[in-house]
Amino acid sequence: MRRLGLLGGMAWPSTLAAYRLLNENVQSRLGGLHSAPLIIWSVDFAEIERLQSAGDWEAAGGLLVEAAVALRTAGAEGLMLCTNTMHRVADAIETAVDIPLLHIADATAARIQADGIGRVGLLGTRFTMEQSFYTGRLQDRGLEVLVPPHPQRERVHRIIYDELVHGHLHDASREIYLEVIAGLIARGAGAIIAGCTEIELLVTPADVEVPYYATTAIHTQAASDWILDG
Ligand code: GLU
Repeated sequence: MRRLGLLGGMAWPSTLAAYRLLNENVQSRLGGLHSAPLIIWSVDFAEIERLQSAGDWEAAGGLLVEAAVALRTAGAEGLMLCTNTMHRVADAIETAVDIPLLHIADATAARIQADGIGRVGLLGTRFTMEQSFYTGRLQDRGLEVLVPPHPQRERVHRIIYDELVHGHLHDASREIYLEVIAGLIARGAGAIIAGCTEIELLVTPADVEVPYYATTAIHTQAASDWILDG
C-alpha cells in the first residue's frame, strides 16, 4: 500500500469522517486487521479562516505548502487536501512537492461523468461557488455548473462557518439547504454536488431527489483506491 498524507482540520469534523472512511474502505477491500497507512497534519482552522476572509490566499497557501512539505518529509507518497475550498491553493502545493495531490474536484467530476450527468448544482463556501478554481475545474471536465443566487449563496456559506465546521447539525439548516437544492433542480440541475466536505454530515443522499455527490465520500474512495493500487 502507498502512504497518504492528509492535510486536515479544515475543518476537523470532515477530517474525522475522512479518517474513518479511508480505514473502512481499506479494511473492506483487504479484510483482516488491515487499515490505511496515513499521516495527518491537522491545522488550526481559525488561522486558515482568518486568511480566507481577508482574501490572503498566498499566506493561506504558504501554511499548507509548509504542511505538505512536512508530510512529504515524514514519508507521505501522495497528498489529500480534506476540504474543497482550500483547493484554491492546490497549484502552490503541487509546485512545492514532488508527490501527487489527489484533487477533490477531479475525483468528483470523474464520478459524475461516469454516471452520464451533464448539468450539476454546486453547494459550498462562497469561495467554492464563486471562484473559478473549482467551477472552472468542473467545467474543464465537461460539466455545466449551476450555483444558487446571491442571497442563498450567503446563507449556504454562513451555515458552513457558523455551524457545520463546529460540528453542529441543525434540522432548520438542513431545511434551508433542501430549499436551495430544490431551486437548483427547478433550474435544470440533474445532480447536486455537496462541494463542502461538511455538508454531507447534514444532508445525505436520502434527503435529495436527484443523484447527490458527497465530496468527502468520493474523495476518500478515490484516495483509498490510490493507496491500494500502490
Ligand atoms: N470543509 C469546507 C470545504 O470543503 C469548508 C472549510 C474550509 O474553508 O476549508 O470547503
